[in-house]
Amino acid sequence: MQTQWHNEHAGQPSHMRCDECFRALPINPPGTLTAGYGRDRQDKIICYACCAKHDKATMLADGKIVLYLAKQDGGSWAVTNWPGSLSFPARGVRRMRHPWARHALIAYFTGPDGRTWSAKNIGDSQIAHCRRLAR
Ligand SMILES: [Zn+2]
Repeated sequence: MQTQWHNEHAGQPSHMRCDECFRALPINPPGTLTAGYGRDRQDKIICYACCAKHDKATMLADGKIVLYLAKQDGGSWAVTNWPGSLSFPARGVRRMRHPWARHALIAYFTGPDGRTWSAKNIGDSQIAHCRRLAR
């Protein structure tokens, strides 16, 4: 029980629980980038799987969402949610004219509804404002 004792006294439980599906999530040692959970806007702990479920539901209900547009290791582009548990291959990525931003990209992808969505990234971040296109 040495490990447990150590964890308690360090104030570091070894697991957290997803507030939604109640799955136990391992807490990674500081410095690793593979945490299995995030926090939503109400500061609830949400696992990656639930995060993907939420984001997909938002897309279907609202027709718009903020995701990330990022170049993948293979050189292709993808639109993903924050933990990367939801990912859509992007096509037609091109630089667009913008009055003040040095970087402005627009890309298209097929959303969870089978429709075409646009993803616009403005500025240096990878944040992409996505919306379902009118037919
Ligand atoms: Zn969950």
